[in-house]
Amino acid sequence: MKYCSQCGAPVTLKLPDGDDRLRYVCESCRIIHYQNPKMVVGCIAQWESEILLCRRAITPCIGKWTLPAGYLENGESVQEGAKRETYEEAQAVVVELKPFALLNLPFISQVYFMFTGHLPQRKFAPGAESMETRLFREENIPWNEIAFPVIVETLKLFYSERPTGSFSFHVKDLQKDRNFIIC
Ligand SMILES: [Zn+2]
Repeated sequence: MKYCSQCGAPVTLKLPDGDDRLRYVCESCRIIHYQNPKMVVGCIAQWESEILLCRRAITPCIGKWTLPAGYLENGESVQEGAKRETYEEAQAVVVELKPFALLNLPFISQVYFMFTGHLPQRKFAPGAESMETRLFREENIPWNEIAFPVIVETLKLFYSERPTGSFSFHVKDLQKDRNFIIC
């Protein structure tokens, strides 16, 4: 951050009084610009024994497959965000959302909140950010072409539990590893 989003003056990285970490502080209007993690919300949308994946039409990881997911918007609940992302990326209505996994990615300051859900009808199509949308059975999941490690993790949790017929809520911390940035 170089300039204040409030007044346009340059900002300085400094330790505000009573704080314990560096913040961007505006030298002109004095506002402290706190930067906090972003939440990504998404969904494993099921149709019978298949799940819905989207092939990304945008960077990063263009051409790779992912679950419908994206940044939570202001004024939106996590459930609403997951439904909206599923509609935007796969033109699919998803119902019966249940919390499935919370994945912390502190090294990129992101938190993923993933749901399971169901497609009430077999209806989906690529949204603006997808080049293809498709249903996959477990045996056809393109594991080597999944866009992000956090999505691989979500899918592994899902398939490890699916034979039991019921899903629990998972909380996991992901570590940065050398594979992380490889799309
Ligand atoms: Zn300012």
